[in-house]
Amino acid sequence: MRAYRMLQWEQPPEIVDVAIPTPGPGEVVVKVAGNGLCHSDLIMTSMPQSIGDAIGWHMPFTLGHETGGWVHAVGPGVSSFQPGDPVVCVSPTSCGACEECVRGFDNCCEYGITGRGYGRDGGLAEYLLVRHTRELVLLQQLDPTIAGVLTDAGATSYHAVKRVLPKLVPGSTAVVIGAGGLGSFAVQFLRVLSSARVVVVDNNDARRAYALELGAHEVIHGVDEHTARNLRSVIGGRGAHAVLDFVGIDSTIAAGIGATRPTGAYGLVGAGGGTLKSDWTNHLPKGGEVFTFQGPTIADTREVVALAEAGLIRVDVDRFGLDDIADAYEALHCGTLRGRAVIVM
Ligand SMILES: [Zn+2]
Ligand SMILES: [Zn+2]
Repeated sequence: MRAYRMLQWEQPPEIVDVAIPTPGPGEVVVKVAGNGLCHSDLIMTSMPQSIGDAIGWHMPFTLGHETGGWVHAVGPGVSSFQPGDPVVCVSPTSCGACEECVRGFDNCCEYGITGRGYGRDGGLAEYLLVRHTRELVLLQQLDPTIAGVLTDAGATSYHAVKRVLPKLVPGSTAVVIGAGGLGSFAVQFLRVLSSARVVVVDNNDARRAYALELGAHEVIHGVDEHTARNLRSVIGGRGAHAVLDFVGIDSTIAAGIGATRPTGAYGLVGAGGGTLKSDWTNHLPKGGEVFTFQGPTIADTREVVALAEAGLIRVDVDRFGLDDIADAYEALHCGTLRGRAVIVM
């Protein structure tokens, strides 16, 4: 089968031929319909070996952690899925047995530092091995070609929104910084799950227009040194009840913290590599929360699929073939996509 693989550290991935995996006991092989592309794929392709070694990754491996498809083959002992079942794969991997997993925080599982598409073979291939059926979600009406994007872009932004929902009482304001693949889902979740006024900050004209189409109440241009002041004037009062930062660079972190009202929450989601520089006595939201996390839980993924199955959120994608994957990443990098880029296998 064809697979888009990292062959060496800090080298561009390549499309190569590899063997189709066979499922062992408890395992499932999925025939991939579509796989979404993520900014973190680009981070991985430039990761130095020193970091890879430190987290236990080995070359080569296949990229892709937003996968939908159909069950192709099941290993001994698997009775809950049949060949032909349409599924998506939960984006993070987890052991199911450690303290974090048992408490429902499976996105914090130690085993998950090496997952499908990050350190281990992922879904940018014709077939994908899934090691635990707990990491599969059965689809009803959704098209598995595009539903994979729900497992990362969808479910990661959902995790952030769910976490701040208790703050978003009637009359509250939520800010979304960055209306890209994740932020545009966050706008939808905020509108479906809360009555908060939703304010979006993005530099890209098309992304701001798209955010309005998805239900944002107000959009602000600019992620720069004026963002905090602009946000304050739009939001009014003492700031927003929740700010979700899907960019995560120095300026958005500073603006986001600066726009969070006392008792509010600032969530850092975007892997922009920024640093939180804040004097807690003056700048952090009094009585509030500053949090970060990586990836969604299995429960988040199931709930997002349920919202999409119910027709309550849109899944907009730009489709590319595997041979055009370099163009797709370029469009992702340049911000010219409308929806999430999906490689249709
Ligand atoms: Zn991702
Ligand atoms: Zn675990």
